[in-house]
Amino acid sequence: MPENSRRPEISVSDILLYINCPRRVYFVSRGFELLPEINVSRLERMLLKELSMNYPEIVKMCSLNADTMCKELEAALDQACKDLPLMFPKEFARTEKGFLEEGNARARAKIPEIAANLLKGLEEFGKDSMLAALTPVKTEPIIFSERLNLKGAPSKIVCFEGMNVPSIIKPGSCPVQGVWASDRIHVASLALLLEAESGKEIPFAFVEYVSFGIIRKVVIRSSDRREVLKTCRRVEKIKAGLMPEKTEEKFCSECTFSEHCVSNSSLMSKFF
Ligand code: SF4
Repeated sequence: MPENSRRPEISVSDILLYINCPRRVYFVSRGFELLPEINVSRLERMLLKELSMNYPEIVKMCSLNADTMCKELEAALDQACKDLPLMFPKEFARTEKGFLEEGNARARAKIPEIAANLLKGLEEFGKDSMLAALTPVKTEPIIFSERLNLKGAPSKIVCFEGMNVPSIIKPGSCPVQGVWASDRIHVASLALLLEAESGKEIPFAFVEYVSFGIIRKVVIRSSDRREVLKTCRRVEKIKAGLMPEKTEEKFCSECTFSEHCVSNSSLMSKFF
């Protein structure tokens, strides 16, 4: 039997879960549901993600005019609001009525800031560079590397300066400068996958903070690659059955696993 067939398969989403809390990897790998319901915040993020798919088109057709851009963004958001229940029928079947309207109102309130930042980006980097960084040559392609025992799907592959590089869409908060540490590891893991597939070095990637209309270029460092490889090995062990120590995490209060997440010894007696 080849060695890989005995190893639990790792995905980039496992790495992201591990960054949140190693124990979440354990629970999800054992069939616990991470996000059992759609709430207003999640709907707002889903709408902003769908809205961002229209940024390349809107940037392409808008002159440097905030009013025009806001109108186009509002129209795209209206469309996203209609499309979302058709795209996720199972999730919407158990979503409270009114949540979508509330999520829509929250997303709509962000449009003036999104438009202002897209226009700022256009002035700063130029239309061609902005379009290259925003426009997908592929959307959510699934990439698997046997050598890394890793699979993942970047939000987009974009062609920038003649290179195909990964880009991720993040509807959450945006740091004042650069990208969040977790986003750096996220793009590094996708760069490693894309390198394994293409055989070419991926020196940089992009993070789109779509709730703000801000796009940031990230240089992939050796230390990021090391962190990804180290995390993959830890995740493999957890998926093979190792329960990580419980530490008091900042996410515990809102974690869907909190009622199951007890001390190691109590947990063992609960499951076995
Ligand atoms: S309750 Fe806390 S320690 Fe347990 S899985 Fe959730 S975040 Fe991790």
